[in-house]
Order: sequence, then structure tokens, then C-alpha cells
Amino acid sequence: MSRLVEKVIEENESLLRDISEKIWLNPELSFHETYAHDLLTTTLEKFGFVVEKQYILPTAFRAEFCNDKDRPTIAIICEYDALPEMGHACGHNLIAEIGLAAGIAVKAAMESDSSICGKVVILGTPAEEGGGGKIKLIENGAFTDIDAALMAHPQMNNILYPLILDLARVTVTYKMKEDLDPWEDVNANDAAVACYNNVAIIRQGFNPRWRLNLVGTFSYNPIHSNYPIFPKLQRPQDFSAELPS
Ligand SMILES: [Zn+2]
Repeated sequence: MSRLVEKVIEENESLLRDISEKIWLNPELSFHETYAHDLLTTTLEKFGFVVEKQYILPTAFRAEFCNDKDRPTIAIICEYDALPEMGHACGHNLIAEIGLAAGIAVKAAMESDSSICGKVVILGTPAEEGGGGKIKLIENGAFTDIDAALMAHPQMNNILYPLILDLARVTVTYKMKEDLDPWEDVNANDAAVACYNNVAIIRQGFNPRWRLNLVGTFSYNPIHSNYPIFPKLQRPQDFSAELPS
């Protein structure tokens, strides 16, 4: 069976590489991955999958192949969105290629041996760099009938149990009254700087698996133009995306 899987992937090597390079050369932001969506879904149709385009989200898709019974149902996930200015920084074009390769190989294996029962689902999940595409798919039942879901993410090394960090986004805004002189109220800017310094001191005691980063932004008091008001502390390099309406 593993020979057959290798053979199918080898036979389609140039096609898979071509798809990956096309997605790499056409980076699309969260919820706008129409090129990747169309490229992957037409390819899956050519390989005989039953494809539902624009599945729940405009750039998500679901492609299925079933042998006799539809349990267990195993999902293989494709990601394909990119980052602003950077493009495919962590290689979601490769995640799409790997998901497609795994899907066509599993389908070939199931077709070669009718005793393999179950369903393979290739799930296209958009908006992973920001926007929480999988969260929206989960909330709308995309994983309800899935028994197990697999995805491969490119990395410099092979890691069986990768360290995965959760992300919590917090913005702290310090406010003071705009119509008071600086000596008449506590200084919001000083409070923000004091918070930053204290966080910088305590984070050396954090568990090495934890990360905490901050940046400060300041908006200026229109009355006292040299006097910042409403300083904000937030995580740096946050990129968030909204579903287009
Ligand atoms: Zn990634």
C-alpha cells in the first residue's frame, strides 16, 4: 500500500509542485483566497472528488471521496492564505500542496482496496493568518461529522509533537481627561510606561513556553499637543481580517 501511495505522489509530482508555486506566486489575504480556492477545487474535481465550492465561507471548500461506508470520516486540511506584504511567510502554499497530495494518494489507496471503508474529506480552510477561518467553520458545523482531522505544517525540522502556542490578544487603553491640565490628573502615559516596565521585569519569571510581547501607541491630546493621551499597549504584529460582507 505504501508503494502505491509513493507511486501516486511521484506520478503527480510536477502537478503538485506547479499548484504550490502558483499559490506562492499569487499570495492572497484572509477570506480573499479566490485564486487558490478555484485552483484547488478544479484540481480535486479532476481527481474525481465530489467537491463543494464556497463551503460555508466564500473561499472554503470541501471535497469528498467515500468507499462503501462513510465512517470513519477523516479530514485532511488545506490552508492557502498569505500575509500582507510578506506573502506566504510560513508556507501555506505547501500546506495546500501536502493536503492535496495526501488526499489523492488516500483516494487511490481506497480505490485499490475495497476493504478500506470510510470517507476522506479534503477541507479547504481559509483565513488562518488572521480571521480564524477554522473557528468559523467549526461554529457552522464543518467538523461535526469528522472523526479525525490531519494537517501538515512546513517546518525546518521534522517534529512529531510541535510546540503550539495559543494566542490571546489584549489591548489596554489608559485614559485621562482631555480638558484638564497635566498636573490636575494622573498621567495616563506614565501609567502605560510603568505597566510596560513591570511586564518586562516579571516576564523573565515566565515558563519558557509562554510568550508576552507589547507595543505602545499614543494618541495626542488636542488641547495639550505635547501631552500624549490614550496610550495603548497591545501585542505587536497583530494582523486581523474580517469576512468581506
Ligand atoms: Zn502557518
